Amino acid sequence: MIFPEYRARRLRKTEGLRSLLQETRLSVKDFVYPLFVFPGKGKQEISSMPGIYRLGLEDLAGEIQEIDQRGIPAVILFGLPRVKDAVGSEAFKEKGIIQQAIQAIKAQKSRLTVICDLCLCEYTDHGHCGKMENGELDNDATLEILGEVAVAQARAGADMVAPSGMIDGQVQSIREALDEHGFEGIPIMAYSAKYASAFYGPFRDAAQSAPQFGDRKSYQMDPPNVREALREIQLDIDEGADIVMIKPALAYLDVIARARMEFNHPIAAYNVSGEYSMIEAAARAGFIERERAIMEVLTAIKRAGADIIISYYAKEMAQVLEK
Ligand SMILES: [Zn+2]
Repeated sequence: MIFPEYRARRLRKTEGLRSLLQETRLSVKDFVYPLFVFPGKGKQEISSMPGIYRLGLEDLAGEIQEIDQRGIPAVILFGLPRVKDAVGSEAFKEKGIIQQAIQAIKAQKSRLTVICDLCLCEYTDHGHCGKMENGELDNDATLEILGEVAVAQARAGADMVAPSGMIDGQVQSIREALDEHGFEGIPIMAYSAKYASAFYGPFRDAAQSAPQFGDRKSYQMDPPNVREALREIQLDIDEGADIVMIKPALAYLDVIARARMEFNHPIAAYNVSGEYSMIEAAARAGFIERERAIMEVLTAIKRAGADIIISYYAKEMAQVLEK
């Protein structure tokens, strides 16, 4: 049937029809909210991410209660340690900032699933994601440290670990380390296809984790590549990843869609800091309608095939979306 018998606009005529025919619906249950935690008290707004704060460990309780009350199912934690060193030892110390944050959250008996970002760049003085050797990242020496971090996080009570360094073999090493220590029940959400992206700029400001020299292009993926992303995802699945992640989301919707077609594992997508800041800046300048733009972007990420959306907008969306 073609025009004039078929008229596509018939089904778009009213709000009721449009709502009935909506193919993709966001839910608060799709979201994970990122939290940046530092030792001590107070909260500091991140200048490049208006409305997003770094939180003091001692003031975490109120925030956790609010996130839980809004029905968001999970948080992902990033730590800002008091001291940084060459191997990022605050990441695996029993009293490291993340270990303390996990315990503080768990002490509150919230329903929140606590996911821990698992990397070293926030904890190393050079800002790279692993141990450096003659200016290069020492892949295999880093694996051992990552295993220790995973065990420390699990011991503190983490519900899930999320290795983000794009270190070869990291999922396998972390799985082995967890299993050896009796944590075979802790799932791994792997940042499988993490691109060397310009959209991480504001996050580095938030997590104070910019590399002091060089960049991360030797371990993060090159933006033009999608087949390589599928290989990375396959490798992580083979190594034992329970959930695979694509990061960033917005400039990589095709990667999410391809991954959705090729794999049956749950897919997470990280709606990164730059994607947030871009909307906020454009809205402040009066160039776009903020709420509509947010909804459109997040819906697109789900439509592309993401099961889980990690987003700085999670809290706000929880107020807008039906439970
Ligand atoms: Zn890293």
